[in-house]
Amino acid sequence: MLYYTFDVKNNSSEIVSKIKIETEKLIEVYDDEIKSYHKYCKKLPDDAPRHIEYQNINCLRKLLSEAKTDIDFAEKNDYVQSFSIKIMIRKDFHSIFCKKCSQEYSPEEIIYETWSQGESLFASGGKTLSCKNNHFLFGYMEWNS
Ligand SMILES: [Zn+2]
Repeated sequence: MLYYTFDVKNNSSEIVSKIKIETEKLIEVYDDEIKSYHKYCKKLPDDAPRHIEYQNINCLRKLLSEAKTDIDFAEKNDYVQSFSIKIMIRKDFHSIFCKKCSQEYSPEEIIYETWSQGESLFASGGKTLSCKNNHFLFGYMEWNS
């Protein structure tokens, strides 16, 4: 089984954790994205952001599917982190390494807290993930109005 990892930063740009996920799972997410791109985005103007995104995830998909070893993306890849959220939502990752604890936690050990902010048209909400010692590990937005 192959895995990829990436670093997560907090609001002060400090690296707080490293997330580890099966490589195959991100390939599946990219495949879905590539399928919907072919269905809906082909006719967009040439400079549409979706085309750039498509090229990036296509490259990443190739990289992941040809990998013979684990890949550490460290902190350099936005398309890895943002698409991994789909896997984090269903708690389908392998583990999260908390820098402060210097310890690896499995999905069952991670605490998911729901947050929301703002009101009416300017509201948003999501989840914050932390370890048992209350260290921030990851956060994502699930909705906004
Ligand atoms: Zn911790």
